[in-house]
Amino acid sequence: MSRGDLILMGPPGSGKGTQARLLADGPGWVHLATGDLFREHLRKGTPLGKLAGQQMAKGEYVPDDVTVGMVRQRLGEIPPRERIVFDGFPRTVPQAEALDALLAEHGRQVDRVIIFEVPREQLIDRLAHRATCGRCQMVYSSERPPRVPGTCDRCGGDVHATARADDSPDVVRKRLEVYEEQTRPVVEHYEHAGRLVRIDGLGSVDAVRQRLTGAMT
Ligand code: AMP
Repeated sequence: MSRGDLILMGPPGSGKGTQARLLADGPGWVHLATGDLFREHLRKGTPLGKLAGQQMAKGEYVPDDVTVGMVRQRLGEIPPRERIVFDGFPRTVPQAEALDALLAEHGRQVDRVIIFEVPREQLIDRLAHRATCGRCQMVYSSERPPRVPGTCDRCGGDVHATARADDSPDVVRKRLEVYEEQTRPVVEHYEHAGRLVRIDGLGSVDAVRQRLTGAMT
């Protein structure tokens, strides 16, 4: 088993956030999700949050310099002995290049990049039925609702349907388009570097979790 950091990639709705959260529930891992960090800024009403909110509402990315700056700050807070699971970052080739440099500064390295593959129709369906925990951001769907309706299995927070304004059909279409344009080249970047492992993102959370564990060994 390797000891470096991990990048989880995949289009919106592919399940990477769910798996990253579950992995980071175990010891030794820290979850770094740029989408969660932006939503936190948005809730607090910071200037960065306002900018991110505008971009998120359109389904577009936050500029690279702003995103990388936020990750740089967060990285500085993570103890070296903890492994990082990156979720939703990097999303552009300049972000991937900046990440390599940032990690090197901290004496860290990524040793696995795992991409969750899910057909487009399924992504649209999952996002249309997504519900999110307001406290820990755990994601649920009609395929997998919380055990107690409205209550998060993981932290007991309130789960709301359509909690994410950017899950409306028009914004979802735009997010998938932006993913193909800007993030697909990142997948190719890691593939050329021989660091990419593809896994099937269909099926139950447990089935995907097992595939992820297999891909990490
Ligand atoms: P997510 O929760 O990962 O789906 O992210 C929600 C939104 O936050 C995205 O649609 C983008 O607007 C923004 N965002 C998250 N991560 C990034 C990133 N690495 N680069 C640029 N924008 C991002």
